[in-house]
Amino acid sequence: MKLLKDKIRQDGKVLSEEVLKVDSFLNHQIDPVLMQEIGKEFAERFKEAGITKIVTIESSGIAPSVMAGLELGVPVIFARKRKSLTLVDHLYTASVHSFTKKETNEISVSKDYLTSEDTVLLIDDFLANGQAVLGLLDIVEQAGAQLAGVGIVIEKGFQSGGSIIRERGIRVESLAILTSLEVGQATFAEEVASR
Ligand code: 5GP
Repeated sequence: MKLLKDKIRQDGKVLSEEVLKVDSFLNHQIDPVLMQEIGKEFAERFKEAGITKIVTIESSGIAPSVMAGLELGVPVIFARKRKSLTLVDHLYTASVHSFTKKETNEISVSKDYLTSEDTVLLIDDFLANGQAVLGLLDIVEQAGAQLAGVGIVIEKGFQSGGSIIRERGIRVESLAILTSLEVGQATFAEEVASR
């Protein structure tokens, strides 16, 4: 997705060979016009998949998910990172080790909003080692819901998450795939392919 890649090139900050900071349009300040385009792109790619719910994880997955939900006309559920003190028995839960924060969180979704009747699109901002997506997959399985696929805004193709998820036969659609990060430069998959 050209608009997204241009934005990453222009405003992304490469913090290390492993971490890209995109606080100016995705992780802190949000660019609504870009989010709307991202939502349209996910909706276009998954429009034939019979999706009934989008499931994401708080907080950075929410903006692109809401825009995709708006386009597809379906509700968006975000997994919470803190268990609510009420109704703990009424939750699907999974453990997720955070790549950026180096801590493990219990994530949860209420059984009220996800059931075996649903066909789910999982969306997240980044795919690194796949822990967040694996946690969300666990929750979808607990609910007995169908999985249509996974939509990722930025995949770091040099980390293992993409292959772990695709090896399970799951459709992963990433709008920008980075093949490497060097200070001052982000390189995308098709640029390597066309060299
Ligand atoms: P994974 O669970 O795939 O290892 O990591 C994905 C999660 O970690 C995403 O939800 C995202 O919040 C965070 N993350 C991973 N890599 C990056 C990165 O390079 N930059 C930012 N801003 N977040 C990242």
